[in-house]
Amino acid sequence: MTRDIKGKLYDIQGYSVHDGPGIRTTVFLKGCMLHCLWCHSPESISFDYELAWFETRCVGTEKCGLCLDVCPQGAISKAEPEKSATDGSLLTKIKIDRSKCRNCLICTQTCPAQALKPSGYEATVEEVFRKVAKDKIYFGQEGGVTISGGEPMAQFDFTLALAKRCKEEGISVCLDTTGYAPWENFQEILPYIDLFLYDLKHMDPDKCQKLVGVNNELILDNARRIAQNEGNLQIRVPVIPKLNATKENMEKTAAFCRELGNAVTLVQLLPYHSFGSAKYTRLGLPYKLNITPPSDQEMREYLELMQSMGLKAQIH
Ligand code: SF4
Ligand code: SF4
Repeated sequence: MTRDIKGKLYDIQGYSVHDGPGIRTTVFLKGCMLHCLWCHSPESISFDYELAWFETRCVGTEKCGLCLDVCPQGAISKAEPEKSATDGSLLTKIKIDRSKCRNCLICTQTCPAQALKPSGYEATVEEVFRKVAKDKIYFGQEGGVTISGGEPMAQFDFTLALAKRCKEEGISVCLDTTGYAPWENFQEILPYIDLFLYDLKHMDPDKCQKLVGVNNELILDNARRIAQNEGNLQIRVPVIPKLNATKENMEKTAAFCRELGNAVTLVQLLPYHSFGSAKYTRLGLPYKLNITPPSDQEMREYLELMQSMGLKAQIH
């Protein structure tokens, strides 16, 4: 039964106004084949479940300490004591040696404060559908469900089944994708997707390879084929100073969007931000970028460039 297909998720967020038209509920799947330097959802990159560490929730080993002896790798130990901000008493939290941690998640079962938590969980298509369908009342004319990630096409059977299930119930479906998946899969899912939220990260194949780990040939080819097959595309362009934010790249991006014709309903420019850096700390991953976000002026220039080439565009 397709409704029993299991997917690996890391979140479901209701009442989203950033993931397609109207009010939407977004299903975030784990795992991505690309590795964008600026990724603000590091929990979406790995296909495996990971240990997330919420330091502020730890009540201290003086009161708890339940996790100290459970790690088979010996990765958990006491941190340096600090003064509690609430009553000035001594508070000794834990620290995790990530070089030893194997993400077995045993420690997450012991922590009563949910300071140690699994990042990611498994759910069937039907379980996810039942959850998102509860929000139907908010969707109105424009809204619906967005399947995002990670790269949802990497868990194709789950994504296809969930899209079909939503459409059976008359719920609009957006698919937020990098475009990096076999065309045959896009062709199969196309009838169930109202709008593809489609990322264009760099128009130069070599630079794209360097920035995200794959070149853009398949991505551009799939966009062309979606357009030829009457799919709708909302193009999303991250604007990352020093990496892809050049006049030349934005002009080439705009020219490509023009080539796709009426299939492109909107071009969204997404200014770089570093809000996701705390999530890297939580997962024990390094945050490698040290970049200043683009200025309002720079964003306006790129917006005007897109509009001057006849595209409906906005800063997101
Ligand atoms: S998830 Fe990591 S820290 Fe926790 S018990 Fe397993 S190996 Fe140890
Ligand atoms: S079990 Fe949780 S609350 Fe208790 S010491 Fe460990 S991390 Fe802190």
